[in-house]
Amino acid sequence: MRVMQIAYLWLYCCVCVCECECVCVCVVCSIFFVDAHNNASEMAAGTLYRAAQLSRLTFLGTSAGCPTKQRNVTSHVLTFSNGRQWMLDCGEATQHQMLHCPEVKGSRLDAILITHLHADHVLGLPGLLATLSMAGGRSESQPLKVIGPTGLRRLIETILELTFSYLTFPIDYHELDPLETHELGPMFGPDTPELAAYPIKHAVPCLGYVITESPPTPKIDAARAKALGVSGPLLGTLRREGSVTIEGQLVHLEDVCHAALPPRKVVLLGDTSDASSLHAAGQGCHTVVHEATLASGMEDQAVANGHSTTNMAVDTALALGASRLILTHISPRYAVASPEETTPAKSTDLVLLDEARNAATARSSALE
Ligand SMILES: [Zn+2]
Ligand SMILES: [Zn+2]
Repeated sequence: MRVMQIAYLWLYCCVCVCECECVCVCVVCSIFFVDAHNNASEMAAGTLYRAAQLSRLTFLGTSAGCPTKQRNVTSHVLTFSNGRQWMLDCGEATQHQMLHCPEVKGSRLDAILITHLHADHVLGLPGLLATLSMAGGRSESQPLKVIGPTGLRRLIETILELTFSYLTFPIDYHELDPLETHELGPMFGPDTPELAAYPIKHAVPCLGYVITESPPTPKIDAARAKALGVSGPLLGTLRREGSVTIEGQLVHLEDVCHAALPPRKVVLLGDTSDASSLHAAGQGCHTVVHEATLASGMEDQAVANGHSTTNMAVDTALALGASRLILTHISPRYAVASPEETTPAKSTDLVLLDEARNAATARSSALE
């Protein structure tokens, strides 16, 4: 049975099940993209490597529709290994949440991705842009990519205009038809993460995003190259041309390279009752962030409003072959547990986590 971790996050606290099946309580609202345990020794020995671009995912808001005292509305930030950051959704007061998360910095933001134009996903954006402008950390030569469904630009520009807000840096808008698939490729030039957007079912047009690390640069194993007779200037030729001939034998670059792990993917979904449009593109993803607005058993109500239950989120994660599912966008009706109250009887939102775990176990067993 394959192991799927299920993390269920709320502001500054998460309960997660790691691969060794222990339950841990964390005091930060971030998860990290670490390599599977069974690769640790190879990584340490340098025989495996990857581009290591996906580094951290920070949750700034996990509430559905409106904020609660413990949860703000939707926003999360993906940090890459070079420190650059992409934000997904920007509900009202997201910039307030950033004040509590020193690892999230406006000056590091390269892109803001919006899934749909519901207020709880986008109304924090004009204020954040105005603050970034006043902070002065960005220059004319540092445009911010703002990516989202058609209408996003008009919304932002109208609010900025009517509030007499003027930005000191340019915005590079990428408005996407939310009924179409968009394979946008590397967003910041060669060897940068690739982005694709897919139409997913919700009460209004909505996008789900698949972000893929760029393929790692081939790394030559000097010992293996030497054993095949490739050394000195021939190494440069091999790197440039992809192959060299040594004493009549053709040696390819891949013959002398360390094994490379495949690029990892993360699937970041907006509100949805059906994200099957990206099952193929997101197949084998490292992490999927999926809404779980309602508890299982409330599927009819959830689907009628374009939302999902915990069981529906688990079904999507299994269809994607995901290694980790993060549940978010939790209805305010579910009370939040404090870090001290980790028994399901004391909080209703931990019941959702148990539901998801049980559903994942039952469905995985059925697939065996
Ligand atoms: Zn929402
Ligand atoms: Zn919505």
